[in-house]
Amino acid sequence: MDLIPANNKKTLWIVDFDYMLFDLYRFMDEFKAMLVEEFGVPGKTYDETKARLQRRTLYHFEEHLRVMEKALGLPPKLMVRKAMPRINALFSRADRYFFRDAIPFMRQIAKRDEVILLSYGHAAHQRRKVRASGLEAYCDRIIFTPTKKGKAQWVKKLATRGRRVMIVNDDPGETRMMAAALRKSSADLSASRVILVERPEGKYFPIPPHKDCEVVRRLGDIFKKRRTP
Ligand SMILES: [Mg+2]
Repeated sequence: MDLIPANNKKTLWIVDFDYMLFDLYRFMDEFKAMLVEEFGVPGKTYDETKARLQRRTLYHFEEHLRVMEKALGLPPKLMVRKAMPRINALFSRADRYFFRDAIPFMRQIAKRDEVILLSYGHAAHQRRKVRASGLEAYCDRIIFTPTKKGKAQWVKKLATRGRRVMIVNDDPGETRMMAAALRKSSADLSASRVILVERPEGKYFPIPPHKDCEVVRRLGDIFKKRRTP
């Protein structure tokens, strides 16, 4: 008797978004350039307000505009009102900010397997980015978590008995916690893999080796690379 539902026979991919599929540096640079060039925001004000916001909460565009308004002594909501149409335009072209291997990779895994996008950050902000990027088409489910630890908690829930789980992420800290959660699960550990994507233009470079994770430079290499015994 087969106790595992048919769906559970599929490989489960748990995939990250920022800096792994999506070049957030390039996207944020364009956002900053727009504010500096079109709205006259001094670059220093942009940087300082962003850093201050991120020290107290998860990043969100509208909140950042509000903090900048305050810092520049502008009437409340002025920047939000004026800049939001431009920000929406930026979001509508979000697909241009994917790394070159991102969409071919997503297309390939979505063909046969179950794909969950698991992203850390402010849910409303992340949702907007992910939707505008068109990535939803390749995902069975999209999950946002407000803490990095939350990713490991999701792995614990998703890595059910006998499943082959593939974790693909770029943040070494997050990924080690996810690998630990996977190791404690009842998933098919002999077939599961934890993959760290090391991008020279990304946030974490170089990535120090770790016994529980493989490191690849290109997403296509995941299909070539074998687990080291
Ligand atoms: Mg990431």
